[in-house]
Amino acid sequence: MSNYGPPDQPSSSEDSDPSTAAPSAQRIPARTAELGEGMQIRRALPARERRLIGAWCFLDHFGPTSIAGTRGLRVGPHPHIGLQTVTWLIEGEVLHRDSLGSVQLIKPAELNLMTSGRAISHSEESPSRGPPRIHGLQLWIALPQANRFMAPAFDHYPALPTVARSGVSVTVLAGEALGERSPAATHSALVGLDVQMEPGCATQLPLDPGFEYGILVTQGALSAAGERLEPGTLLYLGRGRRVLVLGSDAGARAVLLGGEPFGEPVLMWWNFVARTQDEILQACQDWNARADYLGEVRGYDGDRLTAPLPPWAAVHPAS
Ligand code: MN
Repeated sequence: MSNYGPPDQPSSSEDSDPSTAAPSAQRIPARTAELGEGMQIRRALPARERRLIGAWCFLDHFGPTSIAGTRGLRVGPHPHIGLQTVTWLIEGEVLHRDSLGSVQLIKPAELNLMTSGRAISHSEESPSRGPPRIHGLQLWIALPQANRFMAPAFDHYPALPTVARSGVSVTVLAGEALGERSPAATHSALVGLDVQMEPGCATQLPLDPGFEYGILVTQGALSAAGERLEPGTLLYLGRGRRVLVLGSDAGARAVLLGGEPFGEPVLMWWNFVARTQDEILQACQDWNARADYLGEVRGYDGDRLTAPLPPWAAVHPAS
């Protein structure tokens, strides 16, 4: 998914705070953005203060919202390079189509992982006659240099490992935690967890002190490392922690993201994750010129998106 209205600002990992080696508790307000044809969502990454948590480079939280009487989520065909997209639903359904020919309906508790590698294109939409509400997350993972030109792939995981103990349930979306490993194929040291807490629960999640972490509440409210959190604020936790203390009076659900500091500069514009301005500009121009390598999505009832040219297009025209 991506913004469809006015483009975001370009995002360079070099112009935000570096990875914090010591524990930190930086509150980052998510900003409102528009997804597809008019759905308001909250974008927590990239933020001005923080572009990356490990290789996690994008975090959208959409809903919970009613889509009854509307066409719901509709994001027309658009390309990606240099990343993996992770779709995780709490309510509702989304139909994914891509240029590899994949057509996949995703429901809550399932995971879609699309690996663009060198290039892919896809569309996402609420299925006709689908559920009346939608709530979920879309995340992007930057691919490291060694993998960013790999062949594109799409994987759907109908079930993920979950560990439940004393009112807390942890689902491993990516990476490994609590002795369980996600089947999702990722390419750098990272973790993504969905954490559900019943009212009146507290827990300590073990962390890797070499990872930096952030946590975003999707439902309810909780305290994390002593900070009270509700939906709409990402708490960046830095590195060097061995545990994360969580508590919730009224019950909560959250996503915890972590990873080894990515260590490569990342430049993002529109749906592209790259390294240089030239690469981004070339990809925009190629998509708009319908270059074959970016793929074609079949079966979406609507227009493909047009790539907005980056601000450096006028200064630095690619051939
Ligand atoms: Mn997308």
